[in-house]
Amino acid sequence: MIVAMQEKATEEQIDAVIEAMAEAGVDVHRTTGATQTILAAVGSTASLDINKYEMFPGVLHVHRISAPYKLAGRAFRPEGTVVEFPNGAKLGGEQVAIIAGPCAIENREQIFDIAACVKAVGGGFLRGGAFKPRSSPYAFQGLGIPGLQLMHGAAQEHGLLTVSEVMEISQIEAMLPYVDCFQVGARNMQNFNLLRELGQVRKPILLKRGIAATIEELLLSSEYILSGGNYDVILCERGIRTYETATRNTMDISAIPMIHKLSHLPITADPSHGTGRRDMVPAMSKAAVAAGADALLIEIHPNADKAASDAAQTLYLDQFEKLVGELRIIASAVGRTL
Ligand code: PEP
Ligand code: MN
Repeated sequence: MIVAMQEKATEEQIDAVIEAMAEAGVDVHRTTGATQTILAAVGSTASLDINKYEMFPGVLHVHRISAPYKLAGRAFRPEGTVVEFPNGAKLGGEQVAIIAGPCAIENREQIFDIAACVKAVGGGFLRGGAFKPRSSPYAFQGLGIPGLQLMHGAAQEHGLLTVSEVMEISQIEAMLPYVDCFQVGARNMQNFNLLRELGQVRKPILLKRGIAATIEELLLSSEYILSGGNYDVILCERGIRTYETATRNTMDISAIPMIHKLSHLPITADPSHGTGRRDMVPAMSKAAVAAGADALLIEIHPNADKAASDAAQTLYLDQFEKLVGELRIIASAVGRTL
């Protein structure tokens, strides 16, 4: 249930509603906007009487929202969420963010070269995997914390923010000094214990859609993080598994406008995993920006064919530079900057 207060509602009126909701045994999450306060009841809301809350002084209207997620729903923050980073970078606003880097951090030279390239094209986020969820236990599993230290150094040198995947709760603490944003991979989208723990973290979370997850399931997973009090969640469409075999996954471009309709959370598009093919990444990147993506996550490597993981979908640095130039044109055509 969402209670929208009137623009002129007083603090006493707002407190009275919060108190009544709390007495009814639900958790109340408050959003204080520039002009209006929104209260969201979370928990066993089925027994709440909407009509009762409509009668409280200062209440504009009350919605019973049928979607099972509440904090992730568009109604909770109709104006949309803009995630702000400590250096002032924003994700979810007018500017489309560029998040790029290698699938896996491999060595110092590789990650420093990539950081210089991300900076040169005007990107804000360096992303590299240190803990890699590989389909085969015999494949390269990542450098772990020493890899994150390398990426952090490269990001510092160029004033970039870092993003890296966390696979389990025990890695969170050790990663904290080196990452500005935790990525939750597709395989962990429904690792609910991990999501709950990330709800306690005060850094943004990039939550990828599971390979067989519906949009509703993705939003429900985000709800685990939001309900812990971490409101800085960025969603990511990275392709889903379908009957098609020509591409590694099927890039669900329609998920982008659908998620914008259903949720206030920013949405990133990952055309690298979404297609699994270097030759398809530029077209899907452009389609994603045209469809309203708030950020792009692209795998790049100076020696892409020799990348330790996901080589086939990784762009060479010159291909990436050319693509970013083209994306600027698409972004301006849809009223965004990049
Ligand atoms: C990755 O981002 O390198 C990755 C493993 O992605 P996903 O979880 O989407 O497969
Ligand atoms: Mn990858």
